[in-house]
Amino acid sequence: MQRSPVGTGWIEVICGSMFSGKTEELISRLTRERIARKHVQIFKPRTDDRYATDAVVSHSAISLPCVAVERAGDIPRHVDPLATTVGIDECQFFGEELVGVVSRLADRGLRVICAGLDMDFRGEPFEPMPTLLAIAEYVTKKQAVCVVCGNPASRSQRMTASESKVVIGAHDSYEARCRRCHQATPAAAPDQQRLFAEDGPVGEHLARPEQPLLPLDPRKSP
Ligand code: ADP
Ligand code: MG
Ligand code: ZN
Repeated sequence: MQRSPVGTGWIEVICGSMFSGKTEELISRLTRERIARKHVQIFKPRTDDRYATDAVVSHSAISLPCVAVERAGDIPRHVDPLATTVGIDECQFFGEELVGVVSRLADRGLRVICAGLDMDFRGEPFEPMPTLLAIAEYVTKKQAVCVVCGNPASRSQRMTASESKVVIGAHDSYEARCRRCHQATPAAAPDQQRLFAEDGPVGEHLARPEQPLLPLDPRKSP
């Protein structure tokens, strides 16, 4: 990344599908800020209680402590006057109110890093992310790995029957899929067409971090 702005705040957005590494990227940027002795604070919506209520946790189990808030409007009163950097995970759950909150923090001189899903399970823009992307100074779009075909994955395939826009879940409810393999309706069961079926479905390994990945050299397979 280029040199940071001086004398002003700014907004960074990290977006992409589920499992694309948004939370890892957020944690990495915030960890570097802490190493640089910056005063960092992290927020997430209280609705995201998948792995922990008081930490942002990636699917690969790296984490940083955070404050879980009910709504975006609760963030400003938790921001310490000495804070230089604010990270916000799962921004898509905060709704339009987040846009003003984030803008005002950046106007006050803070570095604000927002991570969230740019599309919902149907592949449609997930507000407020599109608006945040428009007003941000810096934008990073991450890709996961499609568990059906191995392509870069831009979309989150819902694997449970619900049509509700928000279903909190991880490996139990979603798969990372590319444009070709994604369907806008919930998939009833894991796709039977996986290219890697003879090795066991590659998604089985990618989607469950507690299970070991396949050996890099297949000749060393047990
Ligand atoms: P996000 O916040 O975008 O949902 P995380 O940063 O929490 O993603 O997790 C990314 C990690 O998820 C990867 O480093 C990898 O260990 C794991 N993972 C599980 N399934 C996939 C997949 N299909 N594609 C890429 N990474 C995956
Ligand atoms: Mg995440
Ligand atoms: Zn695919």
